[in-house]
Amino acid sequence: MPVIIMEPLLGGKLANSLPPEAQEIFRLGTSSPDHRKWSGSPAAWGLCWLWNQSEVTVVLSGMTDPAQVAENAALTDVCSAGSLTGEELALYSKVKDVFNRANKINCTGCAYCLPCPQGVNIPGCFSAYNTSYIMGWRSGLQLYINGTGITAAKSSDPAACISCGKCEKHCPQNIPIIESLKKVKIRMEPLPVRIALKTVRAFLGRHKKSC
Ligand code: SF4
Ligand code: SF4
Repeated sequence: MPVIIMEPLLGGKLANSLPPEAQEIFRLGTSSPDHRKWSGSPAAWGLCWLWNQSEVTVVLSGMTDPAQVAENAALTDVCSAGSLTGEELALYSKVKDVFNRANKINCTGCAYCLPCPQGVNIPGCFSAYNTSYIMGWRSGLQLYINGTGITAAKSSDPAACISCGKCEKHCPQNIPIIESLKKVKIRMEPLPVRIALKTVRAFLGRHKKSC
């Protein structure tokens, strides 16, 4: 049976949003004298792990510029089934531990859960929440405010959720979205933030209401 891998880099998360600690593990691995000479970007490490599996027939990698095409094509010369060394596989285990610790909600950003009838920006909320663990709480808050438009009268933050459950039926990751949104709200809107947001809305003459 052919095995075709979609979203091999988790919608780009494994390429662009690895926690700094995980990036450092790959960087050190790439500069190690034992490392075979192939590009050591996080994307390359991710793709090589898949090509290393004998069951995988084809990897559908989304590439956005010619440099990525060139990098991926070059990788296929050195990464094939069973090609990863024991040392390289050990690095993946370390990176996986760091990644799982940081990615509290396993959302890929696929948006299959949208549209929410209440207008909640579900992937945006989860991205901000995860970022608050990976890059720091302030970075997460910035994403949260930008992604939810929470200072507007009609925003897309978790408070608008009415627990209808429509989104959960469509999530391929089986994320308990309703409960997870509650966690997002608790983390991203502690009391001082709620007071600050209320003040901003009052200043702007916006009274919050559900979408
Ligand atoms: S459960 Fe909440 S977030 Fe999900 S679709 Fe319904 S209102 Fe939107
Ligand atoms: S369907 Fe699931 S994985 Fe996809 S964006 Fe929505 S919550 Fe995230």
